[in-house]
Amino acid sequence: MARERAFINATIHTVDARDTVAEAILIRDERIALVGTTQQVLAAAGQSCVIADAAGKTIVPGFIDPHYHLGYAMLEPVSVDCAIRPGDTIDDVLEAISRATRELPPGQWMRGFGFSPWALPGEREPSLAELDEAAPNNPFFLQDESCHRGWANSAALAEVGIDEYSPQPWGGTVVKDHAGRPTGALLEAAVNPLQTRSWLDMASADWEATRALLTRKMRELAGLGITGLCDAAVTPDIADFYARADREGSFLFTVQQLHTADDFFGKQDPRRPDFVQRVHERESDRLRSGTMKIFADPGFPDGPLISCSHGGVHSHRGNSWYSAAEVKEIVRTADSLGIRTAIHAMGNWAVDAVLDSYEAVRRGDLTSEGLMRIEHAFVSAPQTQGPRMAELGVDLVAMPGLIHHTGPAFDAGWRGEFRDELTVIPIRSLIDAGVRVSFASDGPTGPVAPAHLMWGAVTRASLTGQPIDPHEAVTAAQALRCSTINAAHAADRGDEAGSLEAGKRANLAVLDRDILRCAPDEIREMLVLETVVDGRTIFECDEAPRPAVLG
Ligand SMILES: [Zn+2]
Repeated sequence: MARERAFINATIHTVDARDTVAEAILIRDERIALVGTTQQVLAAAGQSCVIADAAGKTIVPGFIDPHYHLGYAMLEPVSVDCAIRPGDTIDDVLEAISRATRELPPGQWMRGFGFSPWALPGEREPSLAELDEAAPNNPFFLQDESCHRGWANSAALAEVGIDEYSPQPWGGTVVKDHAGRPTGALLEAAVNPLQTRSWLDMASADWEATRALLTRKMRELAGLGITGLCDAAVTPDIADFYARADREGSFLFTVQQLHTADDFFGKQDPRRPDFVQRVHERESDRLRSGTMKIFADPGFPDGPLISCSHGGVHSHRGNSWYSAAEVKEIVRTADSLGIRTAIHAMGNWAVDAVLDSYEAVRRGDLTSEGLMRIEHAFVSAPQTQGPRMAELGVDLVAMPGLIHHTGPAFDAGWRGEFRDELTVIPIRSLIDAGVRVSFASDGPTGPVAPAHLMWGAVTRASLTGQPIDPHEAVTAAQALRCSTINAAHAADRGDEAGSLEAGKRANLAVLDRDILRCAPDEIREMLVLETVVDGRTIFECDEAPRPAVLG
């Protein structure tokens, strides 16, 4: 017999095509059976239905984060938190590293996360000598909060074979001093061996412990109302780990893998049989595959790929990982193999190059219908790029959670003098142009809570007190759409998740407030009371009152 449960007397934002607001929802096994009035649901419910009176609480579709780094974020509890708090100096960071590594067996790897030199006076980076002193007996790798650079101590550099004779790697820089010796700082693809080695060492030591870390992180995300995500950089090692974890039933909700090359920032070649096999194999209900990730423009050392002219001044700056022809060839090859693509592009020039590639594939002999995503578009030109994206049916995965903290740096540092030509994290103008925009956290790079992402998109508030491009603000209803149904489409799950409609999976979040009616600043304070995935509660808040169970 079917297992039934229902929520009645709620404010339900269904996020269906007409933004219907309903009162009650009936769930049969893992699917939604009916959305309607309390009366309709009570009439349709069977004898054994478990009915919860939501007493006016708000219910929304479970949030989906289409760009998150689960495979790395899950290691946070066993890594050193190196985020900078007000008043911190480099000594506080070094002291934290020293405390965390002191008790470790010699030779065991340790990672630090969340570090941001820009938050320290003088943009202070740790030196090799400082890291050696803080972690004398262990390979240590400190990651920048952007994940696009890092700092290693001498033991870590030695473990991966980086020394004064090392050539510069494809797509990255091993920073060296005037004598040619590595300083410990590594930019972009130069972090690859450190990422891969430290991950393997920390994640493969104890299977059960690592599996528990995965479950713990997913439970934490469920507490934010998240019921699905895309891991935006799945390496072969992470794919192997996920496959085994999935076989053992460790996934609380569905994860879509965006497959990178051999390493986080590795050079992608979709013709490689082992890559094609990895992308096409191992699909299950909870662990999805079929999408490839590549990076178009790096952030370091010169910022994203920007091309602009204004008042007779032409500026082309930044670098690219691939030539435009290479991007086109990668997208074409992937598409011909039935592989979807998600391409990281930050600056307007990179976005143009990606759009050219997508256009060639959509309009060329393949006329592909497949999902094509652009990630970020941090500093871009929505007035020309929005209509192109809309026409080509390209999904934009935006990161409004970064507006508050990183927005001012994108504004002053990256956009600079092209204030009239370029927009920082455009959203509203793209939606108006007809682009399907979804919201992602890029966590652990940015704040992870969907409440924070929606608040950022609605207020455009920044830490300077000045909103960033306030004309790009969206309504709360638009923000909810971007974090639910649009995100489901970006995860290629629009037909089964992202809205509350009969026949879809029963994935929902019960909230302590109506985020479509509260003051914009209160969206950020939103508390998730209960999270349901496939009809089952995977999170309940023990701090706040939750719906009373009636029957
Ligand atoms: Zn990312």
